[in-house]
Amino acid sequence: MALYYDLHTHTYHSDGLLAPAELVQRARAAGLGALALTDHDGVAGLPEAAQAAEACGLVFVPGIEISVTWGGQTVHIVGLGVDPHSPGLQSGIRMLQGQREDRARAMARQLAQAGLPGMYEGAAAQARGILGRLHFARALVAAGAARDPRHAFSEFLGQGRPAYVRMQWAELGDAIGWIIAAGGLAVIAHPARYRLSAGALKRFLTEFQEAGGHAIEVVSSSHSDEEMRRFALLADQHKLLASAGSDFHAPGESRLDVGCLPELPPGCTSLWTLWESRAGKSGSVRV
Ligand code: AMP
Ligand code: MN
Ligand code: MN
Ligand code: MN
Repeated sequence: MALYYDLHTHTYHSDGLLAPAELVQRARAAGLGALALTDHDGVAGLPEAAQAAEACGLVFVPGIEISVTWGGQTVHIVGLGVDPHSPGLQSGIRMLQGQREDRARAMARQLAQAGLPGMYEGAAAQARGILGRLHFARALVAAGAARDPRHAFSEFLGQGRPAYVRMQWAELGDAIGWIIAAGGLAVIAHPARYRLSAGALKRFLTEFQEAGGHAIEVVSSSHSDEEMRRFALLADQHKLLASAGSDFHAPGESRLDVGCLPELPPGCTSLWTLWESRAGKSGSVRV
């Protein structure tokens, strides 16, 4: 049986391909009970998703995936159950969206220097709002410069490649603070993706927990079964709860489709125990 929860997904308001209502319908068709929408550095898709979820009886968790720089690398912190109108979160989003716009211009300049002009316009044609590297990847594929998005990252957009732009995103403590002030829970997204030594990972988890962070993703499209077991243990050791999210962007793109997640490894304390205990015995889960 698939998990009731999927707490990490995207729409075309960041670098996904579906509309919020389409994402909700796909989640419902997969038999999901509760869905979080967590677009990168923005909350524009939340109202439509909330409305669509209400119409079909899906529990909706308003969320966001915040870009953070820690130890010189980009990490992603998911906020779940956030009030999108919270002033701190709003000003954080404005700052990050400004950085994204500046980065997009810089990436386009670097691509032009590499013999690929017009890529800002190309990426913008793939996007509805803020620009991310996946929009550039799709534009490079459309221009015939890459076979598929993964190839575009390995040739042009990934670290050390010609269009890579080093960024200083939000501070870890600030991102956690915005999420908590917005009434949400902070979750480390896809921890196995970060290139951290065992010692650095321990420092990262300790700092996250001490700054008020709540959980880490144990189940994720980015994680192998072995990584799920490893992060289940690490969560427990660091007194963090376990979360689960497909990181769905588009049909066929991620290993786990929206609403099709395996159960957490045995022994995990899940993030949703918090919501379920608040809901009590008789009430339904509300976030
Ligand atoms: P950004 O936040 O704009 O730097 O872009 C990061 C996003 O790019 C991630 O959320 C993924 O959706 C996507 N991405 C990162 N690496 C790859 C890759 N190797 N192939 C395809 N998509 C990727
Ligand atoms: Mn993405
Ligand atoms: Mn991410
Ligand atoms: Mn994501």
